[in-house]
Amino acid sequence: MRAFDSILVADWSAGKRAPKSPSKDAIWLCVARRGAAEEPVYCRTRREAEDWIRNFFAQEIAAGRRVLAGFDFPFGYPQGFAAHVTGSSDPLAVWDWLEARITDAEDGANNRYDVAQTLNALFEGPGPFWGKPNEAGWPEIPYRKADIAFDQLSERRACDLAAKASSSCFQLAFPPTVGGQILMGLPMLARLRQIAGVHVWPFEDCTEAPVVLAEIWPGLIEPAVKAELGRLDANPIRDREQVRLLSRAFSRLSLSELVAMMTEIPDVAREEAWILGAGFEERLGALCATSLAPPPLRNDCFALPAGVEWTPVDEALELLRSRLTPVTGMRSAPLAESLGRVLAVPVHARRSNPPQPNTAVDGYGFAGGRPEGPHVLPLIQGRAAAGVPFNGSVPEGHAIRILTGAALPEGVDTVILEEDVRTDGTQIAFHGPLKPGANTRKAGEDVHAGDLALPAGQCLTPADLALLSAVGISEVDVRAPLRVAVLSTGDELVEPGDAAGPGQIFDANRPMLLSMMTRFGFEPVDMGRVGDDREVLRLAMDRAAQQADVILTSGGASAGDEDHVSALLRQAGAMQEWRIAVKPGRPLALGLWDGKPVFGLPGNPVAAMVCTLVFARPAMALLSGQEWRAPQGFDVPAAFEKRKKPGRREYLRARVRDGRAEVFRSEGSGRISGLSWADGLVEIEDGARHIRPGDPVRFIPYGSFGL
Ligand code: AMP
Ligand code: MG
Repeated sequence: MRAFDSILVADWSAGKRAPKSPSKDAIWLCVARRGAAEEPVYCRTRREAEDWIRNFFAQEIAAGRRVLAGFDFPFGYPQGFAAHVTGSSDPLAVWDWLEARITDAEDGANNRYDVAQTLNALFEGPGPFWGKPNEAGWPEIPYRKADIAFDQLSERRACDLAAKASSSCFQLAFPPTVGGQILMGLPMLARLRQIAGVHVWPFEDCTEAPVVLAEIWPGLIEPAVKAELGRLDANPIRDREQVRLLSRAFSRLSLSELVAMMTEIPDVAREEAWILGAGFEERLGALCATSLAPPPLRNDCFALPAGVEWTPVDEALELLRSRLTPVTGMRSAPLAESLGRVLAVPVHARRSNPPQPNTAVDGYGFAGGRPEGPHVLPLIQGRAAAGVPFNGSVPEGHAIRILTGAALPEGVDTVILEEDVRTDGTQIAFHGPLKPGANTRKAGEDVHAGDLALPAGQCLTPADLALLSAVGISEVDVRAPLRVAVLSTGDELVEPGDAAGPGQIFDANRPMLLSMMTRFGFEPVDMGRVGDDREVLRLAMDRAAQQADVILTSGGASAGDEDHVSALLRQAGAMQEWRIAVKPGRPLALGLWDGKPVFGLPGNPVAAMVCTLVFARPAMALLSGQEWRAPQGFDVPAAFEKRKKPGRREYLRARVRDGRAEVFRSEGSGRISGLSWADGLVEIEDGARHIRPGDPVRFIPYGSFGL
C-alpha cells in the first residue's frame, strides 16, 4: 500500500444549521500532515462541509498527495440489512439507495425520519430504527428500543462489539444519534465516491487509490480526549479536540501499522464495514500525546561528493539545506510563553482582523460618499465607540458620532474626519468630495478568518504574538528549543580567572559560542573544557549526546596528531571532513555522535565564529524546525582597498561608519579584538576582486546573523 500524505477527520452531525460561532453539534473537520494537525475547520451545515471536503480532495489530488479521509459514522449496517433493503448484499448499494431518497436543505432541514419510516416498513414488526423527537409522529418508528426484538437483524455490528461502542446504527434520537448521522452522512459519501480516484475502505481496493474513505470513531481515543480537555483551559469544544487528536494520531502511524489496521479485520467487515483502528486503541491513544520526537537524521546527512578538493561556500550550504530536518519534538504552549519558539504547524486565523467593519478615525458616520460641494446632515442621538457599539440603525441621510475603532453601525459605510466638520450638536456641515467607504476599515481587510496567519517554521517574534492574538489564537504547537552542547578542546586552555601558566591561554570560544546559541534562540548546554585526551573527550561527547540535540565543539577538528574530535568521529565511522573554500576557516569536522549531529569547529576564535555564523547557524536553524534563511546583507561603499585572489570566499570583520564599510586593520585569524571591534562581516565573493574605496561591498550586520 502507498502511504498517505494527508489525513482528514470529520466529526459529522445530523442536525440543522449550527450557530455562527464555533460550537459542538456542528461539523468539525481537521487535516493532519506529517504528524501535525492543522487548525480544525468549523462547518455550520452539511452542504458547507461537503463543499469543503470536495475542494480539499480536488486540491490534494491535483498536488499528488494521497488522502485518508475518516468519518465518524458507520459505513454499513449489521449483516443482512443491505440485502433486505436493496436486494444486494453490497453495502454501497445502501449508500446509493439512501442518496436517492434523503433530502437535505441549505439550512439542514431534512427528511431522515421519513426515510427511516420507509425502511422500517420493509421489515416485519416494529423497528429496527427507533427513537424520534416526539411520541406522536412517524407511527412506523417505535419511540423506545424496548419495543423491538432485533431478531431479524442484530442490533450492533461486529466492529461495534469489538470496539465496545454503546451506539447502534438504528438509534435515531437521543444521544448518541448515530442512526441519524448515518442517514445524513452516507448520501454525502455516495456523492463524493463519484469523484474519480475515491475508494471506500474496506469495500474496495485501497492500496493505491488517491483518496480513501474510512469509518473512524473518536471513542477509540477517549482517554486521550479526556486528558486533553482537562489540560485546556476555558471551555474547550470536545468535537474540535477530537478531530484534532484523531487526525494527528492517524498521521503519526507508520505505514506498516496502518496496513495492519486496514487488513486485520474479519470477513463480515466486507458487508458491515469496520472502524479503522478498532483493536489498536492503545497505540492510537499514545500517538495523541502532544509531544512527538521526530525521526532521526540519516547517517549520511553530512556526506560530501567524492573527489572535490575544496567545496565552494554555496555548495556546502546547499548540501546542509537539503540534508537536515528538524530534530526537536513538539508541544503546545500558551502564546505568552512562546516568544522565540518555532511553530511546528501552520497557524490559521480563527477570527478575521478586523472582525467587523469599523472606523479608522474619530468623526461622523453615514451612508455613501458625497460629491464636491457643501453638505449638511442631521445628527442622530447616540454614538458608536470602540467596544461600545451603537445598536440601532442610522437612517439614510443622517449621521452619527463615531470614534476610532468603533464597529460601523447599520446604515453607516463612510466616515468624515472630525477636523473636517462643523457641528452645533444637532447637525454636521462639511465639504465634499468624500469617497464611499472613506476612513473605514473593511472586515478581514488585514486577515480573513481561516487564512494562513503564520507558516510552520516561523520563529515567533513580538509582532507575531500581536498577529496571533488579533486573530484569536491563544495556544500554539511549537517545537521544543534546540539544545546545543558546547565543548572546548585543547591542552592549552584554562578557565578565565584561573591562574594561567606558560603556554596556557584562556578559553575564549566557549563563552562566545554559548552566548551565540542564546542569541539564536537555542538552549545552550555548557559541557566545559577537555584536554587533548581521546578517552576523556569520548566521555564528554557521550554526555553531550545525552543532554543535547546538537554538539558544537571547538578545536581539534583538523587532521593532526592532537585533533581528537575528528579522530573520534572518524573511529565511529561518522566523520566527514568539510574543506570549504572560505577564509577565515579550517576544515570542519561534521558527523553524528550517538545519532546527534556534531559541528566540529576550528579552535581559532575568528574562524570558529565565522564558521558558526555562516554554516552552523543555518544548519542548526533547520534542526530546530525553522525554515532555511540566508542572512540579509546590503551593499555599501567600501572605505578600504583590497586585492583578492580567486578561489575562496572571504569574510572580513567590518563595521559601517558614515555610510561606508570599514574593515579591521588586520586579517590575522587570532585577532579576537577585531571580532569585538566589528559590527558585522563584509562578504567578498569567490572570484578575484580588486576593491577600491567607494566600490560597493556586501555588508552583513551581526544582527542579520541573529546575534
Ligand atoms: P586547533 O583547532 O585545536 O588546532 O586550535 C587552533 C588555534 O585555536 C590554537 O592556537 C588554539 O590554541 C586556539 N584555540 C583552540 N581552542 C580555543 C579556545 N577555546 N579559546 C581560544 N583559543 C582557542
Ligand atoms: Mg587544539
